[in-house]
Amino acid sequence: MNRIAIFPGSFDPFHIGHESIVRRALPLFDKIIIMIGYNVNKKSFFDIEKRMKWINQVFDGIDKVEVRIHDGLTVDFCKEVDAAYILRGLRTSADFEYERAIAQVNKKMHPEIETVFLLTLPEHTPINATIIRDIVLHGGDATQFLPKNLDMNEFKLNSK
Ligand code: ADP
Repeated sequence: MNRIAIFPGSFDPFHIGHESIVRRALPLFDKIIIMIGYNVNKKSFFDIEKRMKWINQVFDGIDKVEVRIHDGLTVDFCKEVDAAYILRGLRTSADFEYERAIAQVNKKMHPEIETVFLLTLPEHTPINATIIRDIVLHGGDATQFLPKNLDMNEFKLNSK
C-alpha cells in the first residue's frame, strides 16, 4: 500500500522550518503532497502561484514530493488524493494545543486518517512565516530563513 501524506499549510512563504519537516518525513512515506491551503477570503502576502513555484523549486528532482493547491478541508483533500496521513510540525506547546484539537476532531470525523507530528529542530523553533513576511515587507534580508535553492532575486523583487 502507498503511504501518502499531506503536509498542509499556507506556506506564505515556505521556509527552512517547513523544508526540514518535509525532508525528515521523506523516509516515512512513499509520497508527500505539500498542500497549499487557499482561501478566497484570506489575503495572502505572496501569491499562490509564486508560492507553488518556489516549493517546486526546493524539491526539484525529488519525485516523492508533489505540490498542490486546495481550497477547503484538508481531510477532503486527503480523500481526493488517497492520503491516510496528515503531516504537521510542532514548535512549541502553543502549536501542540492548537494542533491537538484539530487532529483529534479530524480523527473523530475521519478515523482512517492519522495525523503525524514531527518536532521542529531546535534551531528552527523561532522561525515562522509572519516574521519572515515582516522582514521582507520592511526591506530586510530573510535569506537565512529560506530554502537554499530558491531564486532570491525573484523573491525580493516580486514580493508585495
Ligand atoms: P498554517 O497556516 O497551518 O499555520 P504554516 O504554513 O504556518 O501553516 O505551517 C504549516 C506547517 O508547518 C504546520 O504544521 C506548522 O506547525 C509547521 N511549521 C511552521 N513553522 C515551522 C518551523 N519553524 N519548524 C517546524 N515546523 C513548522
